[in-house]
Amino acid sequence: MQQKQEHKITPNVKVSDLTQYMICPRLVYFRAGGHKQSGIAKGKERSVIENILLKELAFDLHKIYARGEDEGGEGAETEEEDARRIMEEIEDGVERIYKEELEGLETDFFEVVKRDFICSMSVENAEWLRKVRTGNGLLELEEAHGYEREHTMVSEKLSMSGSVDKLIRTGEEIIPCVIKTGKCPEYGVWKSDRMQLAAYAMLIEEEFETTVKRGFVEYIRNAEFRESRIKKRDKALALQILKRVKRIKGGVFPEKGENAPCDKCSFVELCETRKTLLSKLFAK
Ligand code: SF4
Repeated sequence: MQQKQEHKITPNVKVSDLTQYMICPRLVYFRAGGHKQSGIAKGKERSVIENILLKELAFDLHKIYARGEDEGGEGAETEEEDARRIMEEIEDGVERIYKEELEGLETDFFEVVKRDFICSMSVENAEWLRKVRTGNGLLELEEAHGYEREHTMVSEKLSMSGSVDKLIRTGEEIIPCVIKTGKCPEYGVWKSDRMQLAAYAMLIEEEFETTVKRGFVEYIRNAEFRESRIKKRDKALALQILKRVKRIKGGVFPEKGENAPCDKCSFVELCETRKTLLSKLFAK
């Protein structure tokens, strides 16, 4: 008898598609069509480099936290020297890790921004260092259990995959953690960040057969590390957006997002062309 052949469905939606949808649904459409956001928008070069450096710094925060704990011991360094050294340690790999994102940038400019960044983080930002060093729930967890960087998960049931920035396994629970370089809300966590954590939580629950109760968002620019409970409504939102993203990837052209950042979007011409084509079509 002929054996039935199993066909594996390759998940084609990433958690990053859901976060893009929250910014503007059309970003998902154009990217799905193979369009790439071309390079770094003019005038945004410095902030792109700073965001990359901040993200890498977030992966090394435990070093600052651990050295802060040892402070006052033999050979203790000043805070400034200490932070500068950690920054210099991380900067070495950045160009290799983010080769694609940094494409087209002049090396000299990159070096200038790096130097400025190291200086600003170590000299001017005493408050930032103090917040990292005085500890918080997240860094204590990282110190005790470590974390896995960019753990990738795939769910064939959801047709979704994703790489969570940090995954902490305490033995009793598995905790997703995302790093954000943008603005930090006054309280709690932005809705889109809660949705992202909920999407990772569903992937973790399927892979590890567990229940994810909480996650963390690291607003690294402000050294704010916010815990967020995984709520049913955030999972429901993630699933709703997952459905919409699948429709867009299936060819449906969506409305633009309510707060779409068109002024700094490299798809602006495509959007305009598409609008003109549609109005011509409906005018017939
Ligand atoms: S130009 Fe505006 S509407 Fe079009 S994809 Fe970019 S952000 Fe969205």
